Amino acid sequence: MSDTRTPVIDIALVGDSGVRDPAAAAPAAATGGRATADTCGRTNIFDFDRASLERFFEQDLGEKKFRAQQVMKWIHHRYATDFGDMTDLGKALRAKLEQRAVVQAPQVLLDKASEDGTHKWLLGMDPKNAIETVFIPDKGRGTLCVSSQVGCALNCTFCSTATQGFNRNLSTAEIIGQVWVAARHLGNVPHQQRKLTNVVMMGMGEPLANFDNVVRAMSIMRDDLGYGLANKRVTLSTAGMVPMIDKLGEVSDVSLAVSLHAPFDELRNELVPLNRKYPIAELMDACVRYALRKRGTSVTFEYTLMKDVNDQPEHARGLVKLLREFDRRVQMKDAAKVNLIPFNPFPGTRYARPADEAIRAFQKQLNNAGMIAPVRRTRGDDIDAACGQLKGQVMDRTRRSAEHRKHLQDSGIAQGEVPDAA
Ligand code: SAH
Repeated sequence: MSDTRTPVIDIALVGDSGVRDPAAAAPAAATGGRATADTCGRTNIFDFDRASLERFFEQDLGEKKFRAQQVMKWIHHRYATDFGDMTDLGKALRAKLEQRAVVQAPQVLLDKASEDGTHKWLLGMDPKNAIETVFIPDKGRGTLCVSSQVGCALNCTFCSTATQGFNRNLSTAEIIGQVWVAARHLGNVPHQQRKLTNVVMMGMGEPLANFDNVVRAMSIMRDDLGYGLANKRVTLSTAGMVPMIDKLGEVSDVSLAVSLHAPFDELRNELVPLNRKYPIAELMDACVRYALRKRGTSVTFEYTLMKDVNDQPEHARGLVKLLREFDRRVQMKDAAKVNLIPFNPFPGTRYARPADEAIRAFQKQLNNAGMIAPVRRTRGDDIDAACGQLKGQVMDRTRRSAEHRKHLQDSGIAQGEVPDAA
């Protein structure tokens, strides 16, 4: 949780001027839930999970299902993108695939490593938009933080992605492509030499607002022919889209995390405007339904601590009450897990990180009530890779980025300068 800025090592800058003009990036028009095609009308194989790839092979190519399985292994286990390299496929099929399909990953525009091992990629999604993906290594595990949208439409007041506005949903290919880029870089070999052990959908965007593409990408993450991650090692984090939490429960068994940040509606309305539509009581009901589907399911509640905003004893008391009630309804001790995230500052923000003692006092209050509440260490803050700091490059369609720039100008803050938050 130290704020000490350590030097940044740029390990690979694509182009010579830092961020390459994303206009040079490969075209990849994203559509809602369907396979995307390149300019020659070829289908991007990254858009398919196992079921849809098998259908593509059987129905569109007139081939056997198991061919789809071979192709999945080539792509996700051996990082092949050229059908010509897929030597167990037979010449005729390889030629057919070259005509009808491509394996197109997002383009790496910028690649940065932090001294603490955290790694961040800026990935070009189309000529105008880029998103960020972060890898966080820890003892015995490696977690990838994946983005689901270009920007975000939810406008949470303490999140830097919100200041960028919103452009569009990412396709399945653009979501799983983030995992592929990181896994290939790390030399990850699923089932053998696993460097990537967990994925959290906690990057840019609201994953439940891009439901079909996120669910399909998570299915590839969990598939043995994909990245072979156990259900509980794939976590979807939501600001609280209540109907979609229920829908997720119908189709998926991934871990659920909910960005709570306040135990009272009045305060949560301000921090997470979505709360006006789905207030805390309705959100907690949906979480209870999600947990009750399967014995032993817990839900993680994320709580970003902001100085003098939500870090007072009454907030800790409110949180304990809310989460105890959750445990009681789910009939399981520690069904609610809390993750305390010290606020990460960004230019122009009105919030600050509480002092370490205040964070410890808040944590202690939860511990005294019998709750486990780890404080998430800030990782990669020398490369702006911490929670809520991901920005990318968003062609905003909401005018929010212009408003933010104006706010920065009016308050005399230069872009890129982080005000002292402590
Ligand atoms: N839209 C999803 C996922 C993206 S945000 C969601 O709301 O859960 C991922 C996590 O980072 C959320 O818990 C979010 O509240 C937290 N976060 C956002 N901005 C932050 C900041 N500036 N400091 C610390 N955490 C932040």
